[in-house]
Amino acid sequence: SEQLGGLNNNPETNGVSDAKNLRVKLVLLGDSGVGKSCIVLRFVRGQFDPTSKVTIGASFLSQTIALQDSTTVKFEIWDTAGQERYAALAPLYYRGAAVGVVVYDITSPESFNKAQYWVKELQKHGSPDIVLALVGNKADLHEKREVPVQDGIDYAEKNGMFFIETSAKTADNINQLFEEIAKRIPRPSTSS
Ligand code: GDP
Repeated sequence: SEQLGGLNNNPETNGVSDAKNLRVKLVLLGDSGVGKSCIVLRFVRGQFDPTSKVTIGASFLSQTIALQDSTTVKFEIWDTAGQERYAALAPLYYRGAAVGVVVYDITSPESFNKAQYWVKELQKHGSPDIVLALVGNKADLHEKREVPVQDGIDYAEKNGMFFIETSAKTADNINQLFEEIAKRIPRPSTSS
């Protein structure tokens, strides 16, 4: 089930709902053009349609996945296009985020450098227990690769992040990305 949200959705309430059904705010960061919108569209709609832009200001798409232990995780995905132009919105963007996903393009070393900047931003502004993922997208363009897989692995390991390479175009590892994130989200302790 897919929904559009907007600014009137209070980020303070985007926390955990109960032990079986989590509702989490996920923020996407990364250079323009690395494929953030395409990753979201692939995950939420199962499509690759580079012409359709879902990013409008601070709105979000949501998608629920079921895990094998019969828990569900509803991701509220915040993908702000050109967020450098919205610097004043940054605190609102990070607030209450349980997950930070930093994306780069494996054909662009510049985007990998920029990813490291976004990781630092998340470490500075995000909550201390935020789940961080580093994503090397456009893995289908292997003949144009300029960022070695090992560079992503090493950087992620140093920063306590989950790492994966994806292709929004071929759908490679897109569901795995969100499933692995879902597994890493701390569960609320059940009081009996
Ligand atoms: P954003 O600015 O980070 O949201 O990037 P977009 O999602 O708009 O994608 C930017 C461009 O990269 C578009 O032209 C997409 O077609 C292309 N793109 C996105 N993901 C992939 C991918 O996995 N493989 C390839 N080959 N192209 C991709």
